[in-house]
Amino acid sequence: MTGKDTVYEQALQKLNAYIDAHKMNRSPERETVLKRLCRFQRPVTTAEIVELLAKDHICRATVYNSLRVLTQAEVLYEHYMQGSVRAKEYQLYTAQQEQIQIVCTRCGRKTLVHDTVLAQMVRNRKYNNFNPKHYALYIYGECKSCHRLRKKPQTKPVD
Ligand SMILES: [Zn+2]
Repeated sequence: MTGKDTVYEQALQKLNAYIDAHKMNRSPERETVLKRLCRFQRPVTTAEIVELLAKDHICRATVYNSLRVLTQAEVLYEHYMQGSVRAKEYQLYTAQQEQIQIVCTRCGRKTLVHDTVLAQMVRNRKYNNFNPKHYALYIYGECKSCHRLRKKPQTKPVD
């Protein structure tokens, strides 16, 4: 059994526990959605998930429905990019629950960073009347390549 299979098995167990507790029916399509999502080590957009599942002949409505159930079961959690509900991303609870990403505002490139000091600080924060469950921290800026491109001297226009 590979590491990815273990991730899937754990997520499936959690999903099935939720489904049984809520007296819902198990669905092979939902399990396929979950299996495909387990491949990702990063948050994925709804569009990426729909595209990926089209190969399995799973329609958009089933994907959306599965994402809703998987989120309710706390198998997945949602990221709201820049506070917008429309720019939503999903990630497995079991994979890297807490993360810090740096995002280039010019090219959109996102990179996961492993900043254990900052992660520890965020984890230890306490807030009045609020019970934190997990976090996603995005640090926006400009990547090295974009910075270099911007700094490049402009070529003079030819007359
Ligand atoms: Zn960039």
